[in-house]
Amino acid sequence: MISIDNYDFKGKRALIRVDFNVPLNENGEVTDDTRIRAAIPTIKKVLAEGGSAILMSHMGRPKKNPDAKYSLEQIVSTIEKNLGTTVMFAGDCIGEKAAEMAKNLKPGEVMLLENLRFYAEEEGKPRGLAADATKEEKDAAKKALKEGPQKEFVAKLAAMGDCYINDAFGTAHRKHASTYLIAKNFPNDKMFGYLLGKEVKAIASVMENPQHPFCAIIGGSKVSSKIGVIKALIEKVDSIIIGGGMTYTFAAAQGGKVGNSICEPDMFPVALEILELAKQKGVKLVMSPDALIADDFSASANTNTAPANNIPEGWEGVDIADEGKKRFCEHILECKTILWNGPVGVFEIDKFATGSKEVALAIAEATKKGAYSLIGGGDSVACVNKFGLADQVSYISTGGGALLEYIEFGDLPGVAAIRD
Ligand code: AMP
Repeated sequence: MISIDNYDFKGKRALIRVDFNVPLNENGEVTDDTRIRAAIPTIKKVLAEGGSAILMSHMGRPKKNPDAKYSLEQIVSTIEKNLGTTVMFAGDCIGEKAAEMAKNLKPGEVMLLENLRFYAEEEGKPRGLAADATKEEKDAAKKALKEGPQKEFVAKLAAMGDCYINDAFGTAHRKHASTYLIAKNFPNDKMFGYLLGKEVKAIASVMENPQHPFCAIIGGSKVSSKIGVIKALIEKVDSIIIGGGMTYTFAAAQGGKVGNSICEPDMFPVALEILELAKQKGVKLVMSPDALIADDFSASANTNTAPANNIPEGWEGVDIADEGKKRFCEHILECKTILWNGPVGVFEIDKFATGSKEVALAIAEATKKGAYSLIGGGDSVACVNKFGLADQVSYISTGGGALLEYIEFGDLPGVAAIRD
């Protein structure tokens, strides 16, 4: 596999897939440039070695072309500020103007393509289908898009560059034109950017070579979105702390009363299956015996505590309570490898955030004692940032969905496309 450190970029135009899907305010200003900053080392490397950079990214979920709200022109000045150099804006991601600009790119120059998702070809999802289209019609439209326009789209993107770098971990689980298909056009000139390389290394080290005891803390709102990952983790970890809204599906599946808590009755069989699987594999499932309960899903709610499996009607579990905090934190402090995805309560509301805060503090403490901690998924990362602990954990992953899929399947399409 080619490494960005050994590749000769001199006089080459590097097509770099970055993840510049950054949040904007109502004036179109970037409110958090973390993702832009994360890609800077890769871009600077190319420029320093005498190459030029063609940056490509998606932003949001535009459904038409063009769509001013999602135009990447809005982020040009933020990239320039972080990169310390001028960034030319192509106005489109394919087409004559972009191709011409790419052709004339000189060493040291940087250009940014317009939002890739202005074209349905990027994701390979057809647009404009009738609302009552049948599955057959949808499948046929998808096939037609993939076999025709998407291939042309990939070829046009690829024609602009001499080499391809994928540095977008957040979309590495997608088989999209710019994250997956395009790699085939560069059999001898494709590589990971620094960010993607770092992510892959961090997750692979946790999943393939963890120090034991290895604990995964899985929180968030629903079991349904985490089943695959929990099942995959059962094969690897010594224990799983289950927190957040999914606690109540587990409690109710075992006959508990959960009041108005978030609960997915159709997931009861899966919850029971997970409990059984963990037992068979000798994996300890750690759950909170108590819950902070609220009579409303708001900051002005009245609160109380109750056993997590005996919540009165009219109340819902929104966080772990004292016993849960003690149990979770003591357990975390005994572990040598810790993976955290998903808050253990509704951390966005301060008075429901103390459980997640205690968990974050315990992870920081365990890390200080020598454990390796990997935090991933937008909300757990937001938690760690909210409590000012980002520099006290071992690694913060930039990908939520990508991280979970990597854990579940042991690989990602965007990663495999570069490697294979
Ligand atoms: P996820 O995207 O599945 O990781 O879920 C993250 C979301 O789960 C956050 O917005 C939390 O507010 C939410 N969450 C955590 N605990 C609960 C709970 N007990 N009830 C409802 N939502 C929760």
